[in-house]
Amino acid sequence: MKNFFDYTLDELTDVYIKDYEQKKYRAVQTFKWLYEDKVEDVYHMTDIPFALRERLVKDFQIGTLKEEEMKISPDGTRKYLFTLADGSAVETVLMKYEFGNSVCVSTQVGCRMKCDFCASSKLSFGRNLTSGEIVEQIVYISRKIQDRISNVVFMGIGEPFDNYDNVMRAIKIINEPHGLNIGARHITVSTSGLVPQIVKFANEGLQCNLSISLHATNDKVRDKLMPVNKAYNIETLMQACRKYLEKTNRRITFEYALIAGVNDSTKDACALVDLLNGMLCHVNLIPVNAIEGGEYRRPNQNVMMAFRDALNNRGVTATIRRELGNEIDAACGQLRRRYYEE
Ligand code: SAH
Repeated sequence: MKNFFDYTLDELTDVYIKDYEQKKYRAVQTFKWLYEDKVEDVYHMTDIPFALRERLVKDFQIGTLKEEEMKISPDGTRKYLFTLADGSAVETVLMKYEFGNSVCVSTQVGCRMKCDFCASSKLSFGRNLTSGEIVEQIVYISRKIQDRISNVVFMGIGEPFDNYDNVMRAIKIINEPHGLNIGARHITVSTSGLVPQIVKFANEGLQCNLSISLHATNDKVRDKLMPVNKAYNIETLMQACRKYLEKTNRRITFEYALIAGVNDSTKDACALVDLLNGMLCHVNLIPVNAIEGGEYRRPNQNVMMAFRDALNNRGVTATIRRELGNEIDAACGQLRRRYYEE
């Protein structure tokens, strides 16, 4: 069975023309049913000729995700646990902001990056998600809450740039005016620092946002926190970021999880200023979230504010990220393949 959510509009158009001898606009009609009306049954696509619907039903599924569990936090954040067709599981988070609904999608079952502070790394790697599985997380939640999704962040389980091609196809479908119609400026991809893909991404000609998970200012600390640093160290990463900026002129966000006694000193703040010197960027400070069995703790509020101020006073704009979803283990680094463990 094929999955409708795996197809960009161009790809579905091709299939319709070649395999079903249909006119081009049938694919546009289908997209409207899938992404605007969010139907779950091909027979509900009432302006598609009945004979075609009968053929499509045999060949195509509308998605494969199954909701196993949903938790709502007091702040309104929702965490969905989905099982996939092969029985593996991922989590997706919905955050409600004044400006709209933001969905944090997973891109892989598990993760290969092995960041020391992140729960998603603590279990074995399963596989890449298909683009359809990525897109459906958004469609599913939008259908459930009967509201439009205005922002998508690729910050759930997995390393988006370790599943590059499927993530790029998913972005196309999310961005497609006849698809989810979410503007590229409202889509953010976050990476632990896979340098070749950062450079490739710069050349895609997309208006998406890029976040870099930095978390340390020297290789010794970053090697321990993020093993990916042994392949692409801080200097190599910074070079790639500068190339990205040259090419796109789009502001980069650096994610920096503050960990007590590890990377939260004024010296660290000054080193961060030196590193980011003159770059078009913003620093997002995240109080580290404790994970089960983990040793890392967040600094107290004063230390975090001092760190932020040290950056701001030296011309690097920084904010402390507002926290959502902590009560339901839906915050940064807390997503995992829980369904498997239990
Ligand atoms: N693999 C991608 C995207 C997923 S993680 C990446 O590494 O960027 C999304 C963000 O949450 C990253 O910046 C990640 O470093 C951060 N994060 C992971 N674990 C965390 C924790 N325990 N506390 C705070 N932030 C964490």
